[in-house]
Amino acid sequence: MPETIRNVACTVCGCVCDDLAVTVDGGRVVRAEGACRLAEPWFLGQNAAHPPAAEVAGRPADPGAAYDRAAELLRGARSPLIFGLSRSTTEGQRAATALADRIGATIDTTASTGHAPSLMALQQVGESTCTLGEVRNRADLVIFWGSDPARTHPRHLERYSADPVGRFVPGGRKDRFVVMVDDHETESAQLADLFIPVPAGRNWEALWTLRMLVRGIEPGPNPPAPFPKREGGVGVGSSSPPFSGEGPGEGFLGGQLRDLVARMKSCRCGVIFFGSGVTRERLAHRTVEALLQLVTDLNEYTRFYARRMRRYGDVAGADSVLAWQTGYPFGVNLARGYPRYNPGEFTGPDMLARGEVDVCLIVGGETAADLPDAAVAQLRRIPVILLDPPGVDPLVPAAVKFTTAVYGVHRVGTAYRMDEVPIPLRVILPTDYPSDGEVLGEMLKRV
Ligand code: SF4
Repeated sequence: MPETIRNVACTVCGCVCDDLAVTVDGGRVVRAEGACRLAEPWFLGQNAAHPPAAEVAGRPADPGAAYDRAAELLRGARSPLIFGLSRSTTEGQRAATALADRIGATIDTTASTGHAPSLMALQQVGESTCTLGEVRNRADLVIFWGSDPARTHPRHLERYSADPVGRFVPGGRKDRFVVMVDDHETESAQLADLFIPVPAGRNWEALWTLRMLVRGIEPGPNPPAPFPKREGGVGVGSSSPPFSGEGPGEGFLGGQLRDLVARMKSCRCGVIFFGSGVTRERLAHRTVEALLQLVTDLNEYTRFYARRMRRYGDVAGADSVLAWQTGYPFGVNLARGYPRYNPGEFTGPDMLARGEVDVCLIVGGETAADLPDAAVAQLRRIPVILLDPPGVDPLVPAAVKFTTAVYGVHRVGTAYRMDEVPIPLRVILPTDYPSDGEVLGEMLKRV
């Protein structure tokens, strides 16, 4: 008999929508009401694949033998790395940290390929932050910078930021002004009230220009020494189109930046959601610092917040658990028996690219797909222990592979939404696979 389970949380993206109604029948999901175009195929595909619970060197193996082989590899490693963790839960992340501590590993999360610059920036200048509930109830100016939520977080606009009726925004969408800032006209830009094109690599300039305008300082036509003049620099001439080629300081977004500043200072509550368009550019931590400082400046005039758009369901949880357990949110080295943190030196992608890792344990290979080519090349040279849910193509050939249950489908757990609100996850389907936390706990016993 079909059974409908309500208030199911989805961990496909950082929105962690927890209002889905999922109908199950015969051990499969047959309907997922409220699921977006990313979530629906994910739910309907659960329990479709049944790979072996454990594999050694690409062949099905007895789980006991696979644990022994994994423990042997970890014991013999001089510089092991534990990486991933953003589709796990608090339980799995705690188990991974305990294992890293025991074997003196470096532990890092997919923040290193995403919002690591943001975490570095907020350590320097702080962050004016809020929950998504506060955005829903208060924000009348919503700015997305370097993010395309319609594509990457399909229900964000509907559920939190643009459409919902809130306590102080009773008209919903018509009471909000939505701005998209990006280097090209995205799908989300079509839904916005204003699209501001900022070329890739120029966000820092645009943000500092906004900071100056907010403080009433008129930016000069040319960048001050020692900054080199740049064609189409971030000036504020009001009539020329963006990048008209008229020369440095002329015409770049002038009117649009002035309009935006006026809206920022006069709104009742504003928020900037920022994403990979900001965090992937060179010296991105400086760009995010500028964005966070702009938001701090705006709090002299009105209520204003900054929020990171997190990609995977529990990447915010991975930051939180690592910070709670070690004092640092990513890139933590435990080789000396105490935590050391130094982005670049102890971040997984950099260590792999430099050939400094001799065994890598990946928790959630799918989320490691953003690793740079040099890091993936190193993964092909060293033994990899891979923990993946069913139906995921392995990122690289694994020396040992465990198939794990999916939190929020087969196991209860806690995932942290992109605003660091913990969301409980429910069981909707049965499975015989262990969770990643259970696999890591068994490895801990055997090392
Ligand atoms: S927006 Fe994200 S969390 Fe919400 S249903 Fe879609 S994929 Fe799941």
